[in-house]
Amino acid sequence: MSEVLLPVDAAEPAAEPAPAAAEAAEADAADATPPVSPFLALGLPETLTRTLTALGYETPTPIQTATIPPLLAGRDVIGQAQTGTGKTAAFALPMLASLQPRSSMPQALILAPTRELALQVAEAVEQYAKNLPGVRVLAVYGGTGYGEQLRELARGPQIIVGTPGRVLDHMSRGTLNLSALRLLVLDEADEMLRMGFIDDVEAVLKAAPAERQIALFSATMPPPIRRLAQSYLRQPQEITLAGRTTTAPTIRARGWVTGGGLDKFDALMRLLEGEPFEAMLVFVRTRIAADELVGALGDRGFKAAALHGDVHQRDRERVVEALRDGRVPVVVATDVAARGLDVDRITHVVNFDLPTDIESYVHRIGRTGRAGRSGEAILFATPRERSMLNVIERGTRTLIERLVLPSADVINAARIARFQERVAQVVAAAPPNLKVFREQVAALAQDGNLDIAEIAAALAVLVHGDSPMLLPPDRAPPPPSDAFPPPRARTRDADADIERAPARPERVERPADRTERAPKPAQGALQLWRIEVGFRHGVEPRNIIGALANEAGIPSRYIGRLEIRDFYSLIELPRDLPAHVAEAMKRTWVAKRQLRGTHWDPDAPIRGPVEAASDTPPENRPPKRRKMY
Ligand code: AMP
Repeated sequence: MSEVLLPVDAAEPAAEPAPAAAEAAEADAADATPPVSPFLALGLPETLTRTLTALGYETPTPIQTATIPPLLAGRDVIGQAQTGTGKTAAFALPMLASLQPRSSMPQALILAPTRELALQVAEAVEQYAKNLPGVRVLAVYGGTGYGEQLRELARGPQIIVGTPGRVLDHMSRGTLNLSALRLLVLDEADEMLRMGFIDDVEAVLKAAPAERQIALFSATMPPPIRRLAQSYLRQPQEITLAGRTTTAPTIRARGWVTGGGLDKFDALMRLLEGEPFEAMLVFVRTRIAADELVGALGDRGFKAAALHGDVHQRDRERVVEALRDGRVPVVVATDVAARGLDVDRITHVVNFDLPTDIESYVHRIGRTGRAGRSGEAILFATPRERSMLNVIERGTRTLIERLVLPSADVINAARIARFQERVAQVVAAAPPNLKVFREQVAALAQDGNLDIAEIAAALAVLVHGDSPMLLPPDRAPPPPSDAFPPPRARTRDADADIERAPARPERVERPADRTERAPKPAQGALQLWRIEVGFRHGVEPRNIIGALANEAGIPSRYIGRLEIRDFYSLIELPRDLPAHVAEAMKRTWVAKRQLRGTHWDPDAPIRGPVEAASDTPPENRPPKRRKMY
C-alpha cells in the first residue's frame, strides 16, 4: 500500500506566514472576482465546486486534499479519519463527479454502522448533489418496514447509503442489484467491526462486482479491518492524518461536549456572559456559519464581527482594528481568514466548530497566548465528534481539561447585578431626561393608581423586550462531560498525562436515583461491562434493569452494581454470561439507544469510545450477527 502522510508543522510560529504577507495574500484572495475555488485544483468539476462555494466552504480539509484526487483517478483509498475531518465530502464529491445520472442502477454504495449515520451521510450527499439533476440518493436501514424502501428502490437511486444488515437483506431479496456498482465506501469501518457487522460487510464486498473501486474510512485500523483491506482493496492509497506538534505551554485547553439541554450556541453565550475575557476569537468552518453566528450574537446584544473569505480586505482591516482597540470584543472567523491574525488582546480562542486537523488547531489557538501572555483555548464538540478531541490531545501532546460552563445561577446573578448597576449609573449620572421622566412616573402612579415598582418594571420591559431576562434553571449540573478527565496538574511528560492511568469506576456520590444496588452474587463471579446509555440520554436505573430482565433475560438478582455516568453506564453482570444472553444484552434498546455492551477494563488507558472498542481482542468480539434490528 502506498501511503501519504499529511505533514503537520513541528513548530507553529516558524510555519506561519508573516501577518502582513498573510493579509496581503488574503486581500488578493478576497478581492479577486470571481474567486477561484481551491476545490477545482483537486480535479472536481465546476458544478460541484459552485455548490461548495454556496455552502460557504473555503478550502478543502486535509483529508479531502489527500483523498479526492486518487478517488477521482479511480484508485482504492484507505482514509484514517474521524468524524469532523470532512471525510463525508472526501468520498461523496469524487463519487458525484463520476456518477451517471441517466442510469437508474445503483452505482455507489456507502455502508455505515448506524441508521443515524446512514441518514446523515445521505443528507450530506444530497446536499453536495444539489446542482446535479437526476441524482437520487436513498438511505436503507433496519428497524423500520420495507415498504417505503422498496418503493424508493424501484425509483432507481444511483447512490445507496445503508447499514450492512439491511443492505444484505435487500440484496438477498433481489430488491437491491449491485451489478452496476462502481464505488463502494465503508464508512466508520472500525465502528462496523465493533458492532459485529464485519461478516455482513464482507458478504457485501464479496457480492460486489470485480471491477469496483473501494474507499475505506476508519478512525482506527484494528487487525480485522486491515485484513479486510488487504483482501479486498487493490493497491490502495493510504491516507493518515498523522503528525505531532506542540502548542505553547501558556495556553490552557478546555473542552465541552454538547448535552444537558445546551447546544453550542448556549455554551458560547454562557462563556460570553460568565467567563472573564478581553477579546475572543471564535472559529467556525464556513463563511455562512460565521455570518449566522455574528447575526445570532447581535440578536442577543453582543457586539461581534465576521472575518472570512467574502469579507473585503478593507473591511477586514477595520474588523482587526476594532478587535485590537476593544470596540468589537468578539470576532467569528474561518481558518483561512484568521491566518496570521496578530492581536495581543485575544485571551480566548473558541473552537465553536472543531478544526479538521491538528495543524489548523495549532494555527487557531496560536492566535492567543501571544507576546508571552497566557491564553485560553476552548473546544466545543458534539458527542459524535468526541474522538476528535482525543486526536487533538494526542497530536498536540497536551491535556484538554473538562470545561465546566457557568451555571444558570451564576449567569442570572451576573445579569441581575448588571441590570442594577446600569440603573444605578443612570440615577447617579442624572441626565436631563431623568427629571422629566421622574415627574411622568409620579403622575402615572397617582393618576393610574399604580405601584412605582410596577411602573419601573414595565419600563424595563420596554427597554429589554420580550426575551426572558433570566435563564431557566439547569436541567442537570452543567456539563461535566465524561469525555474529559478532571483537571489535573500538567507534567513534563505530556504523553504520560494523556495515556491516563486506571479508570476504575469511581464509587461516586451520585444522587440516589442514579445508582441502584441489586442483591449481588459472589464478587468474583461478576464482570464489569460498559453500556452505551447514560444520564444524558435520560435513562434511569429501572429502565436498564427492566430492559435487561425483559429483553435479555438477565434477572435483576444476577445484576451487581450499576453506575450511570453521563454518556454511558457501568454494570456488573455474571462473568459466565452465556454468549447468546450477552448478544441479546448488546442488542437491547434503552432510552432509544442500543446498549452495545463491551467489557470494561479498568486498567486500560482512557481512549475515545471508537478506539477503545476497536481494540477489543478477537475473542471478545461478538459472534456473527445476522440481523440486528
Ligand atoms: P464530516 O467529517 O464529514 O462529518 O464533516 C464534518 C463537518 O464539516 C460537516 O458539517 C461538513 O459540512 C463540514 N465540512 C466538510 N468539508 C468542509 C470544508 N472543506 N470546509 C468547511 N466545512 C466542511
